[in-house]
Amino acid sequence: MTQDPFVQLKDVGKRWNGQLGVEGITLDIPEGSFTALLGPSGCGKSTTLRLLAGLEWPDQGQILIDGKDVTTSAASDRNLSMVFQSYALFPHLSVAENVVFGLKVRRVPKAERQKKLHRALEITGLLGYENRKPGELSGGQRQRVALARAIVAGQRLCLMDEPLSNLDAKLRNSVRKDIKKLQRDLGITVVYVTHDQTEAMSMADTVVLMKDGYIQQVGAPEALYNRPNNTFVAEFVGAPPMALIDSGAIKGFGEGRKIGLRAEHIDIVPQGQGRLSCTVNESEFLGAETLIGLNYAGATGLSVLKPGMAMMPEGQPVEINFSDDHLHVFNAAGERIAAP
Ligand code: ADP
Ligand code: MG
Repeated sequence: MTQDPFVQLKDVGKRWNGQLGVEGITLDIPEGSFTALLGPSGCGKSTTLRLLAGLEWPDQGQILIDGKDVTTSAASDRNLSMVFQSYALFPHLSVAENVVFGLKVRRVPKAERQKKLHRALEITGLLGYENRKPGELSGGQRQRVALARAIVAGQRLCLMDEPLSNLDAKLRNSVRKDIKKLQRDLGITVVYVTHDQTEAMSMADTVVLMKDGYIQQVGAPEALYNRPNNTFVAEFVGAPPMALIDSGAIKGFGEGRKIGLRAEHIDIVPQGQGRLSCTVNESEFLGAETLIGLNYAGATGLSVLKPGMAMMPEGQPVEINFSDDHLHVFNAAGERIAAP
């Protein structure tokens, strides 16, 4: 049985005074899924989310939510909740008052408000903090209040724009897990904007990678990682990024192409046995592994991972080997093509 997608964007475009925001945005988002809009700053992630939210109207295309055309509907008619980077909490209101603010505005009876409040605080681990003011909370707790507020709204669709970027790395990690668990437990549909590929890859069912206002690839995290559509995707997704080597350097791949290769598929081999001769550029100890950056004229991002602490001196010559099975081939325009 095929089900209509819960959210649909059809060839959506938005310009400001002729200046491109986004163009040709076509997306199907199933109910209960977690979709990440990923890409560098200025690529159109927030614009896409704001169009979906009804905070902007598109110049072209169509937006459907739950089968209803909402292209030019008011934000308040779209039955969705939003969480932003700035928590947008009222500083003079308590946690409880902040969370139920929207319900109060909508004149939801007090008993029901209390019930929903309790449940939302329970889910976000904020029970006991009801009477604190936002200024008396940590960044992570404030972000949880913003989440709790989105939860009490009880909408099936929740839009989030870089909600974790104000948090430190450790907290970001734990709130990331909280959001993912919440989304699963509540069965809601989340569209989540981030410029952080790790965040997108670890949270999303589907990643939408954008550049300069256009979608570059839509797919499961492993699909973007294992079969990037083009060199932009290859270099944006994964840490370290995929290395790109001039095809002329590798026998049998012709000229004028780029050959993609990931660090985990490269081995350092004894002198005289490798396919490429490089020099060590830098060594970075990551904990479980050491990342060795390599210099090779005609390659970018070449690196290899060695287990444990395995620093190598800068400038040391090394030879590397790799199997053709792990090579990605891109044409002169940077688009993926079948290996020869
Ligand atoms: P992202 O969220 O991916 O960083 P945005 O969606 O905010 O990017 O911006 C996409 C492009 O649209 C950028 O070039 C930005 O300058 C432009 N843009 C966004 N909002 C406006 C606006 N209100 N007026 C004019 N240009 C805008
Ligand atoms: Mg943005």
